[in-house]
Amino acid sequence: MSDQTQETYQNSRLYRLRHSTAHILAQAVMEMFPGESQIAIGPPIENGFYYDFDLPRALTLEDLPVLEKRMCEIIAGQHKFIRTESNIEQARKQFAHQKYKLELIETISQTHTVEGTAEKNESDVISFYTHDTFTDLCRGPHLDHTGEINPKALKLLSVAGAYWRGDSNNIMLQRIYGTIWSTPKELRQYLWTVEEAKKRDHRKLGSQLGLFHFSSDIGPGLPLFTPAGETLRHLMESYVRDVQTRYGYQHVWTGHIAKEDLYKKSGHYENYRDAMFPAMTDENMTFRLKPMNCPSHMTLFKEMGKHSYRDLPIRFAEFATLYRYEKSGELTGLTRVRSVTQDDCHIFCTPNQIQDEFALALDLIQEVLGRYRFTDYRVRLSLRDDDGKYVQDDEKWRIAQSALKTALDNSGLDYYTEAGEAAFYGPKADFMARDVLGREWQLSTIQVDFIQPSKLSLTYHGEDGQEHTPVVLHRAVTGSTERFLGVLIEQYAGAFPLWLAPVQAILIPITDRNLEYCQQLRTTLQDNGLRVNIDTGNERMNSKIRKAQVQKVPFMLIVGDKEEQSKSVSVRLRSGKNMGAQTIDEFISITNQQISSGD
Ligand SMILES: [Zn+2]
Ligand SMILES: [Zn+2]
Repeated sequence: MSDQTQETYQNSRLYRLRHSTAHILAQAVMEMFPGESQIAIGPPIENGFYYDFDLPRALTLEDLPVLEKRMCEIIAGQHKFIRTESNIEQARKQFAHQKYKLELIETISQTHTVEGTAEKNESDVISFYTHDTFTDLCRGPHLDHTGEINPKALKLLSVAGAYWRGDSNNIMLQRIYGTIWSTPKELRQYLWTVEEAKKRDHRKLGSQLGLFHFSSDIGPGLPLFTPAGETLRHLMESYVRDVQTRYGYQHVWTGHIAKEDLYKKSGHYENYRDAMFPAMTDENMTFRLKPMNCPSHMTLFKEMGKHSYRDLPIRFAEFATLYRYEKSGELTGLTRVRSVTQDDCHIFCTPNQIQDEFALALDLIQEVLGRYRFTDYRVRLSLRDDDGKYVQDDEKWRIAQSALKTALDNSGLDYYTEAGEAAFYGPKADFMARDVLGREWQLSTIQVDFIQPSKLSLTYHGEDGQEHTPVVLHRAVTGSTERFLGVLIEQYAGAFPLWLAPVQAILIPITDRNLEYCQQLRTTLQDNGLRVNIDTGNERMNSKIRKAQVQKVPFMLIVGDKEEQSKSVSVRLRSGKNMGAQTIDEFISITNQQISSGD
């Protein structure tokens, strides 16, 4: 959740609803273990709430319906949520038997310590919320009374272990997760989304579709792509490459390793060393696997000779595989990997060109996201605040920030600003796109940079006859090939649109007699640019069709004697729909139409 969304959420009725329901859960658990339960904390979270407990026995899934039933009774009691306030001493008394609450009270009393003195401020106010028989140490806010909750929109979901205060040196508590919505319909929608997300998990679908593998012989976070997976990567990259070429970008290639000194000059060594793979040293030089492209592109800019303001903007793009030392515990499927291929671009321009270049990049990003059926997105514009971390050049910041705002205003895109979230080297814009399940992904990004170009001594000859430092825009459109492929698998539930499907059609001969005709057809289809396989296995036709459906192949072309005689194919879709007999020319024109419409 973005900071802004988080803030809106905290002020919403849904937040109070979830917070109130968490209190009711704690009451129900305390009643289940009278005098034997220690309660910890229970906040609302995105899509629900949880509460942590220290209990005499392990909870099981069978406990959840029992607790839910009791919660419904408490809800029906229409108990008011009453706020009271007291001081630290009274709070200690109130929670004398609740050790976790006592620890929280001590933390509160310490953070309230008068500045500059070691004394505790014992008179500080602590607030409680009480409903029915339950009182919690709580800042609020809450609903007026429990009757405002619709018990049919409530569901307890799971039990998990959670360390007290998230610290693995502490005791492991039991956490109950639940969800509550305003209406039962919203609950149903949410539960459907969760189920659907599990079915669409790209790790699961990726192996079902045979797209990639991880191997302990290769190492964690280093995916291997199968022929089908590499076909997808290639199609994604060549599509973006074509669009970029049309928008005036030039593609370059800058390799996989570079001297460590380069990253010392650029500032990456200082700021990103932990994310870099260890150094490789030969007799007298030290190298690093490239963690990012910027220093290489900037060096190339410099090596290509003197630049005049007339040559700018210059736009370098590269699909470069970079290596990042992500912690092994943080690696997940394709979304967090150690070898990551960015669709990276660096635009070298004058300060006056920032607005036009930014607007052009916005257009390009919208075109690409639209092609992948991401139509619901907004832009987060991160600006500076008055914090000292930002480089001092106020005039450059003013120009860049107003250029970005103007371009966004002109674009008509939905955007919001966040002060103080800019990178230290300049303002940036990130595209937050919703997928079909309503989940928000950060995909494209455009960042303005005043710092690196001067660190690497880039210059251009200005209209005034003087040497100037160019501004650089860092731009990624899909982010990385690996992560974006993971997102796409989930977005399409593995059923890639025809233009992107690794295998677009599979020929299924009914008998071995039809195999030769299938081979001729394949040649014809391949000559027309289609990606086609023949299923030569000896299973029955129906099981071949099922196999192709599981593989989500867009078209199944069934060929028996009848089709062979009439020079046609019987066309079936992966949805199960039967399109009947088509001549091969008819089929080719259907696919051409579908590919050009982007379906
Ligand atoms: Zn509370
Ligand atoms: Zn960059």
